[in-house]
Amino acid sequence: MPIPDEILDEERQILSIEAQLAELREHARKESLAILDEFVEAKTAKVPGRPVFNAMMERIERGEAAGILAWHPDRLARNSVDGGRIIYLLDTGKLATLKFPTFWFESTPQGKFMLNIAFGQSKYYVDNLSENVRRGIRQKLRRGEFPGKPPIGYLNEPRLRTIVVDPESAPLVRRMFETYSAGRFTLKEVRKQLASWGLVNRAGKALALGSIKRLLMHPFYVGQFYLKGELYEGSHEPLISRDLFERVQEVMARRGKVHTKRRESFPFLGLLQCGECGSAITAERQKGHHYYRCTKKLGPCTQRYIREEALAAQVRQAVQQVALSDGWAEKMLGKIAEWKTEAAQTSAGFAQESQARLSAIQAKLDRLLDAHLDGAITREEYLGRKEKWLREKSALTDRMAEIRRNGNHWLEPLENFINAAHQAQIVAAGHDLESLKDFLKRIGSNLRLSGQTLRVAYENPWAILARHRLPAAPCATQTGETTTAPSLARCPRLDPIGENEKWWAR
Ligand SMILES: [Zn+2]
Repeated sequence: MPIPDEILDEERQILSIEAQLAELREHARKESLAILDEFVEAKTAKVPGRPVFNAMMERIERGEAAGILAWHPDRLARNSVDGGRIIYLLDTGKLATLKFPTFWFESTPQGKFMLNIAFGQSKYYVDNLSENVRRGIRQKLRRGEFPGKPPIGYLNEPRLRTIVVDPESAPLVRRMFETYSAGRFTLKEVRKQLASWGLVNRAGKALALGSIKRLLMHPFYVGQFYLKGELYEGSHEPLISRDLFERVQEVMARRGKVHTKRRESFPFLGLLQCGECGSAITAERQKGHHYYRCTKKLGPCTQRYIREEALAAQVRQAVQQVALSDGWAEKMLGKIAEWKTEAAQTSAGFAQESQARLSAIQAKLDRLLDAHLDGAITREEYLGRKEKWLREKSALTDRMAEIRRNGNHWLEPLENFINAAHQAQIVAAGHDLESLKDFLKRIGSNLRLSGQTLRVAYENPWAILARHRLPAAPCATQTGETTTAPSLARCPRLDPIGENEKWWAR
């Protein structure tokens, strides 16, 4: 009778847990750790309130055990509450150490920092994913592909994913440029003509004046495009000549008063909410300065405005808060490189060993079948033993897959994160307000302004950097040291910002 899938899945999970337990017992034996109790938690670590985890933590708080041995930090905590509880016990000394077969940990500022990152890294996977999307867009740009919907006159070619000339609207766009370049018509008059030719928007209505103006200034028609203020050479076919385009720009400049006032750029517009009433924060220009203030659309509010310079300084500080100095970045990247090498060696060694054991099991299975066919053992005996060997075989296969996954799956996001945190220093030191804003959006959410003060809820793992002040430079390791872990015995403690602040309870 076939076994239903859900039973197989359950079985697989149990086998995987069994395999981890076996590995952990082996690890404990090698490290001479006395195991007081084993805890298996089937519930996912994403939400706090797991009964087995809580029971374990209570016993540690009572002083029954001094350490935890776990498969990987992500098995212990994937939410900030559980993670914070563990770090807190380490800080207060109730927990002397943590051990993982798949993760280096040492109860030092660096060690806790890395542990925090491991606890918070599931969120980082998501960030990393969007970083990959951005990387894809950059690749497209390099190839000259416009990453989006092209202006009227062109079409997206869905199969080849390229942009092609639209045979219907392209001649009309050309005619629009030629008509306007003569300099005899206002935009309003051009608009009427366009409507009569049938060059209309997607809703079938006449194009707005602003749209026509944008089209007439759009470099896409001469084979280029702007993205985030940068000009790119497109791979699409130009619709008009550079000469015609320039003539149109001259006419546009001459008829300066016709087109609407150029929009001011307010880098922090649309970024913030009022901390008092929750309304959006808007921006305006007064006497040559940029100001940001509450729109007060959600009711009465006592908040005052803030000058852009003052706001920029605070954004800069918020970014600076998560910046890693050159020394730290270098140290951490070096450590990550070491781990990568170790992980590669471990998994290679393990794979070899496992392969040998798999072959041994297969040989046993073959002999078992022979024995059964020769009539040396009964069918019941055969089936019973076969099951045992098959279980062991699949446990081993699972373990191999697990080692491959866990070996360094957290190292790449960690490396990217360290690089980004290092970049924060450059952004914070620069004068580009757009970059500052982009970085702030990347590291924080729920951006609020109240009492002329910016408040940021940092996202993990940025929150870890923001929460702790790392010493200005990593401490020197002792000379002649053999351990791979940096020795920080003489380093100052990694102090949470704000005394006695139970950040993990927030
Ligand atoms: Zn307000």
